[in-house]
Amino acid sequence: MNVFVLNCGSSSVKYKLFDMGAGQPEPVLAEGRIERIGTEQAIVVHKSRGREHRSVRPVFEHRDAIGLVLNMMAADGEAAGGEHRVDAIGHRVVHGGELYRDAVLVTDEVKQSLIELSELAPLHNPPTTAGIDACAELLPGVPQVAVFDTALHADMPKHAYLYGIPYELYERLHIRRYGFHGISHKYVAGRVAALMERPLESLRIISCHLGNGASVTAVKNGRSVDTSMGFTPLEGLMMGTRSGDIDAGAVIYLLAHEGMSVTELNAMLNRESGLRGISGVGSDMRDVEQAVLEGHEMARLAFDMYEYRVRKYIGAYAAAMNGVDAIAFTAGIGEHSPMLRAQICRNLTYLGVELDPERNQVSGREAEISAPGSRVRVFVIPTDEERVIARDTVAVLRQRAAS
Ligand code: ADP
Repeated sequence: MNVFVLNCGSSSVKYKLFDMGAGQPEPVLAEGRIERIGTEQAIVVHKSRGREHRSVRPVFEHRDAIGLVLNMMAADGEAAGGEHRVDAIGHRVVHGGELYRDAVLVTDEVKQSLIELSELAPLHNPPTTAGIDACAELLPGVPQVAVFDTALHADMPKHAYLYGIPYELYERLHIRRYGFHGISHKYVAGRVAALMERPLESLRIISCHLGNGASVTAVKNGRSVDTSMGFTPLEGLMMGTRSGDIDAGAVIYLLAHEGMSVTELNAMLNRESGLRGISGVGSDMRDVEQAVLEGHEMARLAFDMYEYRVRKYIGAYAAAMNGVDAIAFTAGIGEHSPMLRAQICRNLTYLGVELDPERNQVSGREAEISAPGSRVRVFVIPTDEERVIARDTVAVLRQRAAS
């Protein structure tokens, strides 16, 4: 069975076509991305059979982007003397609210609820529903499955997901912590268990997803018991351009005394803060690290703040789980920054973390980086969200066939 995995963002579409019947790890038949959708100069990158094609062309809507991808995949299939057919489609859905604890087959009812959930994720859910509509039109009859970034966290205990505000606001407006990056944290926790040769159900894992967006999750016995992102992906760690945790009182003060509008506040907290807002050199960790090495003081401060937040959450989640067996780093920064990992782990010796400086030099490759005998084992795990989506898609379709 070939599964076409789609990750539709507001101006981008990323995709991978997996052959799910050819053993593990499942081979990728084609993959790529289209960026700057909605412009005359969208960037198209498509890889298949060891070759990469790049082009710049007008792509105005998600439907056009997906049509283009399907044409390119059909051409690949012909060139390979076969067919790159699509048997099923798996969509990454950022927000499943309280409704979805697991992946589901997309029906009219599910689509309607995703539209309703757009209120909670105005930037993220609408492009996904556009992708679902486009696939229904371009690939009629092919089953579509929604896989949620919030699902892993759906079983968080109530004491972890509620805010200390009047309970009525949770009941009426569903204001609570939802958590995100669940697909990535699930993959990472599964790989850690496999590398440790222990059942996931017996482990306390702290998974640190450090990309442009960043979150830490406490995975106890395979379930998320707490995570740093909350009602929106703004809470928690300091990120590339997002503030992370900030006293709501400071936000009230800015509203009251600076006369900032809601739109301005939103832009400031989501796009002008974090590494960008502190360092002044930008939101990209590579630039910040380079500046640190050149002695740039504000870059150093931004780097230290970033590191300190991650370390504080690791400490908090060791407390949440009454200990920790393994810590894992993933996503752009987690996979590629030995400098950050070293600084975090240097201050976790009290937990029983001992890093191996040489092993820690790894970049973008799966590896254990703790010293032999370290009580808490530490790993770098390149995340693979698309593979989780493809696997969940197959699982949902099998379940449906069996029932
Ligand atoms: P997204 O959340 O958009 O998927 P990524 O997981 O690709 O983001 O992570 C992007 C971040 O990873 C950027 O801050 C980038 O600087 C950082 N990154 C990528 N490569 C390196 C590297 N070699 N060293 C440090 N940071 C890196």
